[in-house]
Amino acid sequence: MKVKVLGNGLTWSNRAGSSFLINEEMLVDIPQGIMKSIWGKVDFQKIKYILITHFHSDHFADLHILVDKICSLPNDFKVKVIAPKNALNPLMQMYKVTSTKRYKKEINKHLQFVVLKAGNNVEVDNYKIEAFKAEHSIKDCVCYVVTDKFGKNVGFSGDTIMCEGLMKMIEKTDTIFIDTSNTDNSSRHLCVSEVVALRKKYKKKRFYSVHMIDEVYNNYKKKLLIPEIDDIIEI
Ligand SMILES: [Zn+2]
Ligand SMILES: [Zn+2]
Repeated sequence: MKVKVLGNGLTWSNRAGSSFLINEEMLVDIPQGIMKSIWGKVDFQKIKYILITHFHSDHFADLHILVDKICSLPNDFKVKVIAPKNALNPLMQMYKVTSTKRYKKEINKHLQFVVLKAGNNVEVDNYKIEAFKAEHSIKDCVCYVVTDKFGKNVGFSGDTIMCEGLMKMIEKTDTIFIDTSNTDNSSRHLCVSEVVALRKKYKKKRFYSVHMIDEVYNNYKKKLLIPEIDDIIEI
């Protein structure tokens, strides 16, 4: 399994928002501006799955642009959009406010919308995807573990504070891309000291810090494991 880091920032950073591509075919989150960052670097024709952790702009706001692209490609498979609530509704709202003409009929031809609630899992082709409840500022918000047919797996915290769902996710996998938004504790995100403590507690696991403000990215390279954009992590 190969995970390419497409972005490791958040809305308030000078780097692309956190986003990942598994085996060139499974996209995890699609933040605002990411389509510009990956244009010409990612083969959109290969994308078969889009996972969304939650519906904040730095996790889904370029979905309508990618769907536009997908609808214009000659793929004969349906791209599955997997999220903790039906992504079709916010997608249609985005088309409405951006005055883009995409009709439900056309979208339904190219895409399939899968609702995966926290505590549940779904199997798609060669992957199993498990969702765990993240604690953030909105209700439908999950962490994911993705397992391939060889049993290799990887976790994505999305946005969360320390919580039961996050710990269950961490128990399931040895490689975790983890929210390390802030230098100090907050009520919505993890911070440097919490991720450092997790690295000490689980010495054999790899915690890749993502979703960082610039201060974290610039000043904590020795304390954290920070992947650069375009890095490919082999699992
Ligand atoms: Zn969020
Ligand atoms: Zn976020």
